[in-house]
Amino acid sequence: MKILFRKIGSTPLDFELKSDNITFKGFLEFYKRNLILLKADISGKLSLDCGTCNNAFDIILDENIEILLCDGEYQEDDDNLDVMELFSDEQDSTINLEDLLSSEIELYKSEYYKCSKCQQSDFTSYEV
Ligand SMILES: [Zn+2]
Repeated sequence: MKILFRKIGSTPLDFELKSDNITFKGFLEFYKRNLILLKADISGKLSLDCGTCNNAFDIILDENIEILLCDGEYQEDDDNLDVMELFSDEQDSTINLEDLLSSEIELYKSEYYKCSKCQQSDFTSYEV
């Protein structure tokens, strides 16, 4: 789902998309100048491979994200929100929600690189 930056106004634009077992649901809203506010929930089940034992395991996601999407370079720093700069070769800047979701999922994958069993065994070894 691609959305043109200039199409987003002060009326929130709802979206919902699904990727495997993950639902990405929220809205986009004009924030100021070249900034768009994105508020969304990411929920569902994500299958991962443990970095230690290689077994597949699932995590349940239920996250709220709130970020500013910046058309081009972000030049302010007075917004207390995470900012994601978007650069486009095309004349009209677009927001690609699939790309956003997959980059969020990549983040989770890098955070949860161990299954609960391996985390457990780490914990036990620290105790000894
Ligand atoms: Zn493991």
